[in-house]
Amino acid sequence: MNEINVARSSMPSFEEYCGEIQELWDSRWLTNMGIKHEELRIKLQGYLDAKHLHLLTNGHMAIELSLQALGLSGEVITTPFTFASTTQAIVRNGLTPVFCDIDPVTFCMDPEKIEPLITEKTSAILPVHVYGNVCDVEAIERIANKYNLAVIYDTAHAFGVKYEGKGIANFGDASCFSFHATKVFHTVEGGCACFRSEGVGKRLARLKNFGLSGQEDVSEIGTNAKLDEFRAAMGLCNLRRVDGEIMKRGRAVERYRERLGGVPGLQINPVQKNVQQNFAYFPVVFHEKAFGADRNAVLHKLAENGVYARKYFYPLTSEFACYGGKFEPEETPVAKEISQRVLTLPLYAELDLEAVDRICNIILSYKK
Ligand SMILES: *Cc1c(COP(=O)(O)O)cnc(C)c1O
Repeated sequence: MNEINVARSSMPSFEEYCGEIQELWDSRWLTNMGIKHEELRIKLQGYLDAKHLHLLTNGHMAIELSLQALGLSGEVITTPFTFASTTQAIVRNGLTPVFCDIDPVTFCMDPEKIEPLITEKTSAILPVHVYGNVCDVEAIERIANKYNLAVIYDTAHAFGVKYEGKGIANFGDASCFSFHATKVFHTVEGGCACFRSEGVGKRLARLKNFGLSGQEDVSEIGTNAKLDEFRAAMGLCNLRRVDGEIMKRGRAVERYRERLGGVPGLQINPVQKNVQQNFAYFPVVFHEKAFGADRNAVLHKLAENGVYARKYFYPLTSEFACYGGKFEPEETPVAKEISQRVLTLPLYAELDLEAVDRICNIILSYKK
């Protein structure tokens, strides 16, 4: 029995990657914003239709340093239905996360629930385009403008997503992408941040390089979050193939939709209007009463059959032990409920339709 994992990294051919890194043996310029880094930066800026794009060693540092570069203080309104990184980046900046509930269909922050959370300490909103679903960017912008708040999007799931024909990085003050090995596009580890303001981008560029502003000038308390040449080269290879990879993911998603859409008690990821999707994830919410089995039962049955889905996201970040019970998960009841019912099913470019059928057959064996 072949095992099927939730994700599988896409790779260029060995020869293509070796070709891409060959010149590094001559230049001996292995990191610190070399030629591969600059080439990838420019190409990504074009591909993502983004402004002021800066590469980083991972997506987490994109969020952490964007918050620092924007000079925020006090409270940041965010979603608990996300990966650990989003909330940790806020807390590691000395900021306080204030958790807003999510929309039960898109799983993104519910804009109607933002305003009651705003206090005089609020400095920013940090929503997540979760699973590549697009947040209500217009409503969020209206609120941000009204209260003069910064907006930082966690776009880790949204590589290549377009809304009304525009790259997703065109919304908010900053957009933070992850190029982790399991994401739609990857550099093994890596990420980037895109900014509306050139100046904030330049500040982030200093922060990722120890705060250096010249050979003898250190103007910021920075860190080291540079992307090296070998990983930039992996990105150049992967960027050539990413459109094809997204298309292949789309075929698997189409099959999942055909098999699981419309089944009573199964809630699948929505198709949003005016959105060009990237098919990053395929979440399914199991409503036990109507379907006949709960999320955990399905997860175990899949695993018994060599199929490894994930409880993504469970628990909520507001429930993490590291925060010592400081937050109240009951205040975001929709997020709490979804986190208890959701599974993301295996999805990657090389997942063939027979595998999707095998996964769906296991799930549908529970159907009432
Ligand atoms: C992957 C991910 C990150 C962090 O990215 P890394 O590149 O792994 O540091 C942040 N937020 C979300 C929602 C993610 O899925």
